[in-house]
Amino acid sequence: MYYNWKENTNTEELKIVCNLIKNGELVIFPTETVYGIGANALDENAVAKIFLAKGRPADNPLIVHIADRKTIEKIAKDITEVEQKLIDAFMPGPFTIILKKKDVLPSNVTGGLDTVAVRMPNNVIAKAIIQFSNCPIAAPSANISGRPSGTDIEEIRQELEGKVSAIIDGGKTDIGLESTVVKVVDETPIILRPGKITAEDIKSVVGKCIIDNTILSKVDENQKVESPGMKYKHYAPKTECLLVYCEDDLDQIFEINRIIKKYRGDVVLLGLKEHSEKIVMSKERYIELGSKEDLDSVARNFYSALRKADEFNAQIVIIEGVKKEGLGLAIMNRMLRTCGFNYIEK
Ligand code: AMP
Ligand code: MG
Repeated sequence: MYYNWKENTNTEELKIVCNLIKNGELVIFPTETVYGIGANALDENAVAKIFLAKGRPADNPLIVHIADRKTIEKIAKDITEVEQKLIDAFMPGPFTIILKKKDVLPSNVTGGLDTVAVRMPNNVIAKAIIQFSNCPIAAPSANISGRPSGTDIEEIRQELEGKVSAIIDGGKTDIGLESTVVKVVDETPIILRPGKITAEDIKSVVGKCIIDNTILSKVDENQKVESPGMKYKHYAPKTECLLVYCEDDLDQIFEINRIIKKYRGDVVLLGLKEHSEKIVMSKERYIELGSKEDLDSVARNFYSALRKADEFNAQIVIIEGVKKEGLGLAIMNRMLRTCGFNYIEK
């Protein structure tokens, strides 16, 4: 069933949707980051349905979503002072923290690990669904495993309708990239996946923060990593992609024009506003990501732009990279994986 809650959350429909969750069914709903495909996190069979619907590897754990801080104690234990400070500072928000799990959680939700990823979304629809379902909700991004995350409801419907019991339309998501994932080790926060909450934000609360070295590098499927999700192919359209980033604008424009020529124009470009007028290509195949002065817009448009790019069946999709600073780190982390580390940097 499709429900349109773009303007208002409908109370009658909310009851129906929360009953579905309570009964172990799957519901797609918006959060402030990307859309999630959710199920009762305490119900092993319901959680198994998520893995099946997405085709997600069983060892890639899910984030458990809660509506209030007191629920954290029900699913996690031994919370340290540093962890508590981060919880107080960034929840609700686009922030996920890895904590020691309690036994109430079935082992499939944490991919067999003894830790659980916890997030409190800051989105009225997500909050209402979690609160009225009266259970924590496991919810990975709403997409088939390996594909770009779902940020636009029409694209999600095309990919997942028929695999879930309800789809809630809350409009385009605000942030557009998944949450920052953090684990605290020896009192130091480590960013396992970058997002809207940056290392600088975390430092301002607890004084320190490390960025995991897998964030901008390729990880082998057999490699042991803190965040299992990093091993897998991610965020990729069907067309081959190439990421280009040159610090100097003129170099960047030159490089992109060179590649367009090499492919005789059979390309799609995900481009930055600042460069658009100097790029020589068909206007139709140019998709504007946003401005390099406004990385929020680049983050918000990225996944949707990737899906649009695929429709041209071009030889290659060229993606303009951004500076790896602040939100730019999260954007480049996703772009590098989208391209399978097919990357030109100058
Ligand atoms: P998604 O829900 O698709 O946005 O992905 C969630 C991310 O969080 C994946 O990269 C997971 O590997 C990571 N994650 C979830 N639970 C844990 C955990 N207990 N320990 C480490 N990483 C986790
Ligand atoms: Mg995902």
